[in-house]
Amino acid sequence: MNVSTKRLDIVAEARGLLSALGVGESAYAAGGMAAMSPVTGEKIAEVATTTAAGAARAIEEADSAFRKWRLVPAPKRGELVRLLGEELRAHKAELGRLVSIEAGKIPSEGLGEVQEMIDICDFAVGLSRQLYGLTIATERPGHRMMETWHPLGVIGVISAFNFPVAVWSWNAALALVCGNSVVWKPSEKTTLTALACQAIFERAVKRFGSDAPDGLLKVLIGDRAIGEVLVDHPKVPLVSATGSTRMGRDVGPRLAKRFARAILELGGNNAGIVTPSADLDMALRAIAFGAMGTAGQRCTTLRRLFVHDSVYDTLVPRLKKAYESVSVGSPLETSALVGPLIDKAAFDGMQKALKQAGTHGGKITGGSRVDAGHADAYYVKPALVEMPKQEGPVLEETFAPILYVMKYTDLDAAIADHNAVGAGLSSSIFTLDLQEAERFLSVDGSDCGIANVNIGTSGAEIGGAFGGEKETGGGRESGSDAWKAYMRRATNTVNYSKALPLAQGVSFDIE
Ligand code: NAD
Repeated sequence: MNVSTKRLDIVAEARGLLSALGVGESAYAAGGMAAMSPVTGEKIAEVATTTAAGAARAIEEADSAFRKWRLVPAPKRGELVRLLGEELRAHKAELGRLVSIEAGKIPSEGLGEVQEMIDICDFAVGLSRQLYGLTIATERPGHRMMETWHPLGVIGVISAFNFPVAVWSWNAALALVCGNSVVWKPSEKTTLTALACQAIFERAVKRFGSDAPDGLLKVLIGDRAIGEVLVDHPKVPLVSATGSTRMGRDVGPRLAKRFARAILELGGNNAGIVTPSADLDMALRAIAFGAMGTAGQRCTTLRRLFVHDSVYDTLVPRLKKAYESVSVGSPLETSALVGPLIDKAAFDGMQKALKQAGTHGGKITGGSRVDAGHADAYYVKPALVEMPKQEGPVLEETFAPILYVMKYTDLDAAIADHNAVGAGLSSSIFTLDLQEAERFLSVDGSDCGIANVNIGTSGAEIGGAFGGEKETGGGRESGSDAWKAYMRRATNTVNYSKALPLAQGVSFDIE
């Protein structure tokens, strides 16, 4: 297909989707930051950027909105999130497609990302009636002790390109039912989907009515300098930042310096272990999706695989075959399972890591550039690299589809190697042996925030708390009790007696 003909197609299609989603042309047609599509490598639009002064103003407005929103009862706040979920259901196809255009995801993953947004909205609606505090036994007679959870303030959200809309919704749905307002700095690589989310949210606000104050959601368009305004602003008590460990190393200390809270969701270097008893058919499918899906651009992508030597020669040739035959191509024009890398820098990073792997004795299958008919786009064959041992580039996250495969003989040693990297996000073991499975999940097993048995490292559900340890940052978002990070806890003691006993038997009697 002729590249110049397609150019017009993708630009026109993106603009049509933006219009259907309610984004006015003035937001993306009057000059500003380039919005690129990795599918064709073309510029789709130029998005108006936020100045530092504009960002500070937006934070002030969000703070005013917070002061009103916190007074709205939580179940009523849940109604706004319910309407957001309805709007997302109604616009799933358009938003999913825009995700595919802007982030390069295959259609089922673009739609899956919007489904994840719908799921977290449903979760948050239920949560809006369950922001429970404890009643605590007190040592003093005639007293009652309890916990109350209060809204926190303006929640800053910084998001990465690879989950351009879901990560915002994880944070926003919880923050809103908890009584907060949200200021969002999306990735500079995915500004159009952010504008679409803002338009969808504004429609939900309109349907909700006048109890929703202006300024509940503000979107800041810009690069890291605009993110830094959010990070440093004294009226932002919590920043939830998703991105690379490099970003977290900058953002974390800045937040700590002003005693603000941080939810850091950073890089992963996720591993799986395939034991002698594993169901190899199941493992093969899980490994293929975990390592090649989303073109290796998930924080939970499977990057390291330890295979027991008794099954290595059965599993690894089958895996290599899957790598050789997997379809790579445009997610908009073909049914390929692997779409493009986000940009040239990602491609260069992948080639550099493969070269380094070679110097450490790695045997590489795949990894070369694929001609998908778009000269400025970066498609690659996913790479499987058989490594003699875990060293060099294996120790770091390269945000591209590279799977390093290593042989092991002793499970304890494999678990030690599994844990011997900086990141601690996701992990899995493939085994039918109960002792091995429990060992992996136990106190001295996987050191990650996510540890799975007989499923891959990626594709988490919203119901669980999501996040990881060590250089992944320690933050938790989404399900379980992650909501507590978005509220402040007050411990209340009420004395309904006529005496004033002091705790710990202290006496302080004044005449
Ligand atoms: P990135 O770190 O380049 O950028 C992420 C966001 O941080 C962007 O919005 C960027 O503008 C902003 N940013 C960067 N430096 C900043 C600074 N000093 N102050 C304020 N904001 C700053 O990451 P990316 O390339 O967009 O995404 C890929 C990375 O994100 C990978 O490392 C991946 O593992 C990670 N990721 C982690 C999770 C998770 O939940 N743990 C989820 C998705 C992606």
